[in-house]
Amino acid sequence: GLRPTGSVNPIAVSVKDVGMAFGDVHAVRNASFDLPKGRFLTILGPSGSGKTTLLRMIAGFDRPTHGEIFINGRPVSAVPPHKRAIGMVFQKLALFPHMTAAENVAFPLKMRRHDARTIPQKVERYLDLVRLGGYGDRRINELSGGQQQRVAIARALVFEPDLLLLDEPLAALDRKLREEMQLEFRRIQKELGVTTINVTHDQREALVVSDEIIIMNGGAIQQKARPVDAYRAPSNAFVANFIGVTNFLEGRIVELTSTQAVFETNGVRLVGIAADAALAPGLSCSGALRAEQIRIAPMGGRLDELETLVDGQVVDCIFEGDRVVYEIRVPDLAGVLMRVFDHDPESHLQFGPGDEVRLGWNARDMHVFQK
Ligand code: ATP
Repeated sequence: GLRPTGSVNPIAVSVKDVGMAFGDVHAVRNASFDLPKGRFLTILGPSGSGKTTLLRMIAGFDRPTHGEIFINGRPVSAVPPHKRAIGMVFQKLALFPHMTAAENVAFPLKMRRHDARTIPQKVERYLDLVRLGGYGDRRINELSGGQQQRVAIARALVFEPDLLLLDEPLAALDRKLREEMQLEFRRIQKELGVTTINVTHDQREALVVSDEIIIMNGGAIQQKARPVDAYRAPSNAFVANFIGVTNFLEGRIVELTSTQAVFETNGVRLVGIAADAALAPGLSCSGALRAEQIRIAPMGGRLDELETLVDGQVVDCIFEGDRVVYEIRVPDLAGVLMRVFDHDPESHLQFGPGDEVRLGWNARDMHVFQK
């Protein structure tokens, strides 16, 4: 949509050189970022990468070993927990099972001593927002998993917090419901404009719901970017591997320009984008190429518009409904096994194990990193 340009959004959350050590374990290392008001940020990373630790420090549950976190310009640690205007939804929803949906949503308002006469109206408004209008009198244990999730969202938002924190709230749901709730989180967040930080290890979820993604590994932030940029222009091999299905072709740099890297693997010269400032001629490198950026054709087939062509043999093909995943062995590239997606329903299952095929791709789709 149209968004005014320039520095319109004030900073809602500012994380400044934050670290957390548990003894020898550096759970979070030198994390710094600013999050403008109204944005939806996802912290994405594998298990143990420090996501929850970072979120807990933002919530003010834990104090960083070093650094400081500011919410709306105020250090978090200066504000006692019950005065923080933060809504939270975790995987364990911690709803009161014997209370009704409405009583659960009313709870934070009572805790914060809102005027009792205004409470029913607010509760109704937030139950409507999560599409549970008319369910207020149901007990929690009479609601489905997805409906309970919606109650938890309404409860986290009803007191109009400055910040909404989500720690894998969808992890326990089945896939269809999880995907539905991802879109719901996005819709509700956009409708209210509440600044949101979400933690997940699910890359699809991160791409779907977020305005911005932070990718973490080993306690360190690897990249902060819009989903489309994290996907198209990963800043290192970890990010390229974590988001999407990526082939890595390993070799040695022979030539560098400001934008392109030429490297040699098994005597074959390959060209890609020089995506890493540390590249230098002679160094080992790795060219990252996503499975969907490779085209497949019969042996000798015409893929003329593509810059790089190699021949290979189908080892396996897996039908996944909306696409076929091929595994192709490429003798010219030292027998490397490449994964290729074919999304074209016309050519689905055109090739089977043992078939000789030709693969092609463009140099701009390969990102070359130092190994
Ligand atoms: P997951 O996706 O599995 O929840 P995560 O990315 O949220 O993982 P954290 O829970 O932040 O990771 O943990 C980061 C590292 O810090 C891990 O190595 C973990 O074992 C360690 N850690 C976390 N909390 C503590 C603690 N209270 N005491 C000691 N070590 C901890």
